[in-house]
Amino acid sequence: MLFTTHAIVGTAIGAALQDPSLGFLGGFLSHHILDGMPHFDQGSFYTIKSGAPYLGQKRIPEEMNGGWIKRDWNMLFADWFLSGIAFVAIFYYSPLNFWVPLAGGALGGLMPDIIDSSPLWSKGLRAKIKSIAAYHKFHTFFHWTVTYKEMLWGVATQLAVILISLIYIALYMPR
Ligand SMILES: [Zn+2]
Repeated sequence: MLFTTHAIVGTAIGAALQDPSLGFLGGFLSHHILDGMPHFDQGSFYTIKSGAPYLGQKRIPEEMNGGWIKRDWNMLFADWFLSGIAFVAIFYYSPLNFWVPLAGGALGGLMPDIIDSSPLWSKGLRAKIKSIAAYHKFHTFFHWTVTYKEMLWGVATQLAVILISLIYIALYMPR
């Protein structure tokens, strides 16, 4: 799932729990629930048959996909840019005492991908640390990526959770 979606949902969870550690845990948990929803991301370009692995997902094996290409990096930078705008807007809108819980929730929501989906260090971490290799299996198992052709509904699911989170923040946040 896209960075922006995880970041915004994590932020909303941080706002709801009003505590940075609980927000972090809630955000972390939300990551795997969100990954379980049909979604579009860089992995879609490497997905041949949509679905989670237990539903018969088919992917081009990692060893054969040639690694990240320029398109994937461009998507990541666009994704970061979008989440940056969202962060500035949400933090600007929120009272100061909410900032740390919001950041905790966002960090929790992003942490699984920071550890396990980075094109720079995740492969190395898996090779060196057994528990991260096991975590990778778990992360991949609850992961429903749609194919590139199904991009539209893979984006729609994310827009829906982003919208719900933003509405929640807007209605809930004391001004
Ligand atoms: Zn993930």
